[in-house]
Amino acid sequence: MPAHMLQLSSSYTTTTTIRAPPKGSPQNEGEKLENHPLYSEEDIRPEMKDDIYDPSYQDAEGPRPKFEFVWRNIILMCLLHLGALYGIILVPTCKFYTWLWAYVYYLISGLGITAGAHRLWSHRTYKARLPLRLFLIIANTMAFQNDVYEWARDHRAHHKFSETDADPHNSRRGFFFSHVGWLLVRKHPAVKEKGATLNLSDLKAEKLVMFQRRYYKPAVLLICFILPTLVPWFYWGETFLNSLCVATFLRYAVVLNATWLVNSAAHLYGYRPYDKNINSRENILVSLGAVGEGFHNYHHTFPYDYSASEYRWHINFTTFFIDCMAVLGLAYDRKKVSKTAVLARIKRTGDGSHKSA
Ligand SMILES: [Zn+2]
Ligand SMILES: [Zn+2]
Repeated sequence: MPAHMLQLSSSYTTTTTIRAPPKGSPQNEGEKLENHPLYSEEDIRPEMKDDIYDPSYQDAEGPRPKFEFVWRNIILMCLLHLGALYGIILVPTCKFYTWLWAYVYYLISGLGITAGAHRLWSHRTYKARLPLRLFLIIANTMAFQNDVYEWARDHRAHHKFSETDADPHNSRRGFFFSHVGWLLVRKHPAVKEKGATLNLSDLKAEKLVMFQRRYYKPAVLLICFILPTLVPWFYWGETFLNSLCVATFLRYAVVLNATWLVNSAAHLYGYRPYDKNINSRENILVSLGAVGEGFHNYHHTFPYDYSASEYRWHINFTTFFIDCMAVLGLAYDRKKVSKTAVLARIKRTGDGSHKSA
């Protein structure tokens, strides 16, 4: 559906669409950035700049520092994945309600990452009223991928300093590193140094985000582990082992890996119809698992688009969810890049794989 057809007059349901590049230059880099072929000139979200790719930052010369393993994380990740593998064996022995429970938990916690930590808090691609933000912060805690403040800081660095040492999951370091390895070693000094330069004032000012940060550990223990295990066991007589290994370990591991595939597979495999100069790619399989986050060449080209895709509901449950919230008046000011701007960009920097090219 063309973007303009979804433009409604109510402030709750309006989609902001830009048809011509705005005048002016990005905050810090002035002329240099604006003239760079990698910089997207169609920025429709003037209040946020720190997730826009900064091509002026390059890796320092010389060898990378040696990996410093974080053994606690390595052991916990191994245990989780062993539990999840055992969970796969147990799936056929589970009750129907346990499957349903695990699936709904996967979907909701997935939304806590995609609609919450990613599209709302990292990129500010739309605005959400308190009830929706409450839902998303709970869903995000269910997903246990670090609190929103930390997730968004890492993610803005991933966009701004993509594929350099300051990118927390730099895909130039290989599939394993960008998938999970980055969580098992100490951060590269450049991640800390450049991460500290990011503007996170919007997150610091948001009470709900800071509240989650303060009570993160007990909250995660309760709603990522204890609650999903106890409910099937207590309410419909599921065995404790099935509850623990399927509803908790397997479900948590699936959400983690689906998210990580966006950083690994979607930076390595797929076409680059919007910008062939960057590593991120369009990957349908990743979109399926990560509820709509696999249109990753588009997303890095236009990080301010609330759909994280040229399209809306095409393999994109997250956009469907945000649109439903908009109908309820809980989401508003959804930013969508115009077709004209997208087509111009495809022509200018695409790899020729887009159907319009
Ligand atoms: Zn990425
Ligand atoms: Zn992003």
